[in-house]
Amino acid sequence: MTTLTKTEDTPAPTGPGAFLSVRDLRVRFSTEDGIVNAVDGLSFDVERGKTLGIVGESGSGKSVTNLTILGLHNSKTAAVDGEIYLDGKELVGSSEKDLEKIRGNKAAMIFQDPLTALSPYYTVGRQIAEPYRKHTGASKKEAKARAIEMLDKVGIPQPATRFNDYPHQFSGGMRQRAMIAMALICDPDLLIADEPTTALDVTVQAQILDLLKDLQQEFGSAIVFITHDLGVIANMADDLLVMYAGRAVERGSVREVLHTPKHPYTWGLLSSMPRLGGDINEALTPIPGSPPSLLNPPSGCAFHPRCAFKDQVSDGRCSGDRPTLPSGRAAACHLTAEQKQTIFIDQIKPRLG
Ligand code: SF4
Repeated sequence: MTTLTKTEDTPAPTGPGAFLSVRDLRVRFSTEDGIVNAVDGLSFDVERGKTLGIVGESGSGKSVTNLTILGLHNSKTAAVDGEIYLDGKELVGSSEKDLEKIRGNKAAMIFQDPLTALSPYYTVGRQIAEPYRKHTGASKKEAKARAIEMLDKVGIPQPATRFNDYPHQFSGGMRQRAMIAMALICDPDLLIADEPTTALDVTVQAQILDLLKDLQQEFGSAIVFITHDLGVIANMADDLLVMYAGRAVERGSVREVLHTPKHPYTWGLLSSMPRLGGDINEALTPIPGSPPSLLNPPSGCAFHPRCAFKDQVSDGRCSGDRPTLPSGRAAACHLTAEQKQTIFIDQIKPRLG
């Protein structure tokens, strides 16, 4: 199982542990209106061959976290603190040259929209083969053969012919597959997939998810899978991190978090999405309000303006004290364990079915 250890507020001792180890990561952006705390003290580990799902609404910090791991955030406006170890190598503060070597070789990213990753001016095959040449020193012929092999592996029919097609000649599903081929051509040990199937219809989505699982088995890669779709997470991930306002609010195995969620925000996420196999007409319960501005986040628990259970915590603690995330299977919330259990059994579980 992927290990998710230590607390947000008490970072682990420095030093490499798991294959990917993120420790007390903080990412702040300077804007004209002030400082945006996009990621605010985040720690997690991912082992080889395992998948960590990260869920949360837009602006929760999940995409910024993963762009930062690969050094793709805008370094001119972003300030990054904390530690990120990939296979024992510290990435925060690494030179652009070192990060360039790691990207595509040791770690790769699949984006939501393949058109942002594929240039319209070059053939798909060339764009897949180039990173392989660059990182391995292979000849043009070897890189082409490898790219055709990868196109075949991701299920592109007639790969040798389609190698010469331009992105606009591929369907959306095929472009997504081509981007996966591009990300996996150097057998990366870490794959970051940011909403990789959101734009696809359900059939193609299922094919792509199966493909990622097969390729993970073959290459033993660690995967960080970002999505707002808990159904996809249930299918893909071993462990789950729920993010809100730049912080982790709940963590555990996928089974634990989806079957016995402990945080009011996770309750809200689960109640707001259709149940697998549920009635298509069943009423969903959206989370009231909207995610907070990270320019000026709420005091105490950032979820308190939207939380229906804050009155069950005495002394106004929810708006005054920021709850911490204890180690292991945990939620960052001031409700007692008994309160969480009672609320879940009496009010949330009947809603989830
Ligand atoms: Fe709700 Fe308070 Fe728990 Fe935050 S700490 S989730 S406001 S009960």
